[in-house]
Amino acid sequence: MVSYKELGLVNTKEMFAKAIKGGYAIPAFNFNNMEQLQAIIKASVETKSPVILQVSKGARNYANQTLLRYMAEGAVQYAKELGCENPQIVLHLDHGDSFELCKSCVDLGFSSVMIDGSHLPYEENVALTKKVVDYAHQYDVTVEGELGVLAGVEDEVCAEHHTYTNPEEVIDFSTRTGCDSLAISIGTSHGAYKFKPEQCHVDPATGRLVPPPLAFDVLDAVMEKLPGFPIVLHGSSSVPQEYVEMINKYGGNLEAAIGIPEDELRKAAKSAVCKINIDSDSRLAMTAAIRKVFAEKPAEFDPRKYLGPARDEMEKLYKHKILNVLGSNDKL
Ligand SMILES: [Zn+2]
Repeated sequence: MVSYKELGLVNTKEMFAKAIKGGYAIPAFNFNNMEQLQAIIKASVETKSPVILQVSKGARNYANQTLLRYMAEGAVQYAKELGCENPQIVLHLDHGDSFELCKSCVDLGFSSVMIDGSHLPYEENVALTKKVVDYAHQYDVTVEGELGVLAGVEDEVCAEHHTYTNPEEVIDFSTRTGCDSLAISIGTSHGAYKFKPEQCHVDPATGRLVPPPLAFDVLDAVMEKLPGFPIVLHGSSSVPQEYVEMINKYGGNLEAAIGIPEDELRKAAKSAVCKINIDSDSRLAMTAAIRKVFAEKPAEFDPRKYLGPARDEMEKLYKHKILNVLGSNDKL
């Protein structure tokens, strides 16, 4: 049993309270490898932003849960080395699907876990979430629950259609489970293909597809029921079209990849939404940068020569999100 406090990590409690009061949202970035982690830490240190490092099921399968935990511990030291005296870094389990998994992460030194029982019948979701909360709170680890189902594919989390969160359930759910934050479904979705082209209209100025708006009425109804309660948005990548175009220009084949417009996320960040999950955008930045090197320098075979530019591009993206979308800069 290792306490996250010994690793220099923090839970989400104070971070979320400040974010709601200050009208901004904390970035929750997924990581799978060293370059991504370096880019996240550098971007958050340079912008003085708190940050949530997320580990998904796919990341655990790819990189190993224990190794990722040690990398997060290293990230705290790296942030200090970069000049941040008091880094506010959360290590969070993304989409935990069982009590045993959540418990293993708490025991390993994670400071926050998500238990995703959103696909279960309501009462089973309540019971499972409560069980995780009861265990995690003994160690001061915060817990994110989920109500409503997001569409899309994210690693092994997959659903065809979304079901908006029912605002009538949120008081009962948060009271009975004791969860610290709640992920809700208001039209965001996992992956880089969030909308079908036929759901969108064409912006005459840019010629690009504009998706239907998020269900802010659902968010408003949830906030009315649970004033000041931390709300989480999953599946909130914007799928920057510059990256999609760059990937396609250098030999890729991404067709009609569409994300959530950044002005909608900006609006959400000002509300009780205090954690916004972004994963696909950094995948796109990384892929675009690597493809460019491969196309322009076909003789290159030193991985540092293409992973380095990929890291730079991700850092640029993370900074942009912090400074221009979430507003979590200058909060350390
Ligand atoms: Zn998610």
